[in-house]
Amino acid sequence: MAQTLPVTNNLLALDLAGLKTLAVRLGEPPYRGQQLFEWVYGKGCRHFEAMTNLPVAFRARLEAHFSIRRLAPAKIQTSSDGTVKVLLTLGSGRLVEAVLIPEVTAGRFTACVSSQVGCAMGCTFCATGRMGFMQNLVPGEIYDQAAILSALAKERFDHGLTNIVFMGMGEPLLNYRQVMASVAMLTHPKGMAMAPRRITVSTVGLARRIRRLADEAAGVRLAVSLHAPTQDKRSQIMPSSTAEATDLGALMDSLHHYCRTTGKRLTFEYCLFREFNDHEDDARTLVRLCRRVRSKVNLIMYNAVPGVTLQRTTEARLNAFARVLAHAGVTVTVRRSRGQDIDAACGQLATLDKLSQH
Ligand code: SF4
Repeated sequence: MAQTLPVTNNLLALDLAGLKTLAVRLGEPPYRGQQLFEWVYGKGCRHFEAMTNLPVAFRARLEAHFSIRRLAPAKIQTSSDGTVKVLLTLGSGRLVEAVLIPEVTAGRFTACVSSQVGCAMGCTFCATGRMGFMQNLVPGEIYDQAAILSALAKERFDHGLTNIVFMGMGEPLLNYRQVMASVAMLTHPKGMAMAPRRITVSTVGLARRIRRLADEAAGVRLAVSLHAPTQDKRSQIMPSSTAEATDLGALMDSLHHYCRTTGKRLTFEYCLFREFNDHEDDARTLVRLCRRVRSKVNLIMYNAVPGVTLQRTTEARLNAFARVLAHAGVTVTVRRSRGQDIDAACGQLATLDKLSQH
């Protein structure tokens, strides 16, 4: 018989286990929750009455107590390089951004999804950080971003998503439970059936949560936004790195644990700022960090954010920096940011006043 209903009435807040529990609370066997999951995520259904293999009475109770607050695209912008940025309205009415990065010749179609509206980490170079923290996304809202971008990729490139990166707005590990629930949905055979190794969680470097990720979700890849090779320089641009639990020493210990536990190589993201962290000495210090854990380095050209004094480095300095790493045996790739003309590149996502700005 029916029991107490969950506090939320947005079905997207429930993962598969939550949907099974809901079914039981509504007097149905758990497999009805699985069917609900398949309708909502596998088929992208928006209306309970269309879920024809569910009993009429169950559908009526769902209708009476729940809604499926799918993300609604408010704006779609396409960059000259093919990158697509989608501005989405959440159930709360707040806005969030997701980006499709097509690399057609490589056959790679990556969805960059957000896990929070705004971010509490306050990195000085980042547009999202300037918004402050506003809201955590629930699992279905994260899933929906990938589903919307997947449909876009099929429509424009006749190709589904090949990769998903948590590199949009927010610090994913600060919304740990919901992000992991969304990963379980994205990888579920009746969801998006994405292989875990094709999903990358990118963090500013929260040591305790990296350990937890290593212990609980070994399948996904990890990227760490390092951006400076010393505690002193990191502290200047990433205020959150001064906390004891996130300082460079604690971070490196947690990364060591990650590599040992998962057997995987991690990626250091390193955004080059002119005359700040782009000296060859910085590169040599970075090499020493790389030698401590199984890692590779992505060098990123910074994209200007209004009001930020940090500047983009030059091509010559970028190449010199990359050469130092490569000569020391570090695997290094240079990521030329995509979608700069639509503010879809790294560190440029922010949704305050977006609708009126563009
Ligand atoms: S860089 Fe990442 S962690 Fe830092 S403020 Fe921006 S979104 Fe948050």
